[in-house]
Amino acid sequence: MLKLATLALVGIISSTAFASEVAVDVGHTLAASGAVSARGGKEFDFNRVLAVSVSSALAERGLGVQPINFDGRIDSLDARPQQAAGADFFISIHHDSVPAELLEDWDWNGSAQTYSDRHAGFALFVSHDNPDLATSLRCASAIGARLRRLGFVGATHHADALSGRPRPYADAENSVHYYDKLIVLYRTPLPAVLFEAGVIKHRAEELVLRDPERQSRMADAIATGIAACLYVPH
Ligand SMILES: [Zn+2]
Repeated sequence: MLKLATLALVGIISSTAFASEVAVDVGHTLAASGAVSARGGKEFDFNRVLAVSVSSALAERGLGVQPINFDGRIDSLDARPQQAAGADFFISIHHDSVPAELLEDWDWNGSAQTYSDRHAGFALFVSHDNPDLATSLRCASAIGARLRRLGFVGATHHADALSGRPRPYADAENSVHYYDKLIVLYRTPLPAVLFEAGVIKHRAEELVLRDPERQSRMADAIATGIAACLYVPH
């Protein structure tokens, strides 16, 4: 009896001691809000909604969450990885635009906006300069794989020279690319991934990216991928 109780206690202690914590970063700020959607929405607002959903999904899986920049008032890019100190993994949440030369004009609800329906889909980015590229890549691939399993479609244009800013594939099947000069990915001791949920300049994709039910499925896939990759023995 004592032995069983002791074993149970050890189990509780070790599961607590090894519970992973994930730093979830909302890309951009209130003052510099990133891309503008086809309907004039701010990327920061899209990022924050999805980051909140990802945080809940991580917590449901027993993972700790360190929210970064949920108030949109962070001082600098360097402050993001600094605030992630002590976590086991860093994910920065973004929504994508396209190069300016692809944009076309349209009128939406009486306001002049720009769009491009050419590119769509999620993408993940890792950096060669990150001190733990192996874990970064393993987690990015796990996230991409879970997203695909739930029916999400990865972008195919980021490795293309015609996209204006080609990012070579790290894992083509799961839409993972190398993006080496991003401060949030390399100025950190943590494995780190930047996630682009989709292209908000794409008129149809913007609408599905605004759908709360789909946001929650996407968040579930991200959290499941992170949990799977952090719990793999290595
Ligand atoms: Zn962004």
